[in-house]
Amino acid sequence: MRKERVTENVYVFTSEAYAQATAGAIVTGEGTVVIDTLPFPRETREMIDFLRAESARGIRYVINTHHHADHVYGNFLFEEADIVSSERCREVMRKSGEKNLAEAKQQTPELAEVKLRLPNLTFAEKMSFHLGDKAMRLMPLPGHTPDGIGVYVEGDKILFAGDAVMPLPYIFWGDRVVLQDTLRALKEMHLENIVQGHGEVLLKGELDETLDAAIAYLDCIHDKVKAKLSSRTSKERLVNDITLESCGFSPIALDGLVKQLHRSNLLRVYQTLTAKAR
Ligand SMILES: [Zn+2]
Repeated sequence: MRKERVTENVYVFTSEAYAQATAGAIVTGEGTVVIDTLPFPRETREMIDFLRAESARGIRYVINTHHHADHVYGNFLFEEADIVSSERCREVMRKSGEKNLAEAKQQTPELAEVKLRLPNLTFAEKMSFHLGDKAMRLMPLPGHTPDGIGVYVEGDKILFAGDAVMPLPYIFWGDRVVLQDTLRALKEMHLENIVQGHGEVLLKGELDETLDAAIAYLDCIHDKVKAKLSSRTSKERLVNDITLESCGFSPIALDGLVKQLHRSNLLRVYQTLTAKAR
């Protein structure tokens, strides 16, 4: 796990074990707010050990940006904290969390001790959050998944965006057009930093360019899949033919994982377009 200090009291922890998944923390005089909890207990414990020493008031709240395993499996280790999420996030975890966790444990021995811990404080759309001298706003950021939220730290102008912002936009479980709207809204926020759900923290000077490239990529995969469909290319061919480079992205980000994400994105667009045509 890699630890980075973004501003005086805001930290980002990046997994070295799984897809550069990130978690964050805002340390205040009244205790600490954690955002997402990483998938593997070993790295989550490292983060907790560091944070417990940072504030005498301890870790008070954990916020989950969305229900995916790599953002919530560490929840159970924060025994002293309330877990906060959107109502949708809790609902998906309640319905499918145990089944998915059981399957994940079969694949990944490191998860053996994980217990599913559901959020116990939920909100419908938005929520304001005040702790110590920090004000945070929790807001919907759908598109990667319908339940996604962001955490905006007001004074610092930092947004924890969950997987709404990643080194490659990822819509396999989500909606392309909805994610584009979310990304456009982020451009209007005039942020200092975006903490992505995976990968490096984005800096002010690169935000516009990065968000524009993500929006353009989502148009690009749509247009290219549509063109292939009208020339009756098979699904298998189409996924191989439309390269990441041809939509303006390098295949090396996230240790090459972006190539897989890209293929899943193409399949999602294919599904959506063929379902429409039927
Ligand atoms: Zn993720």
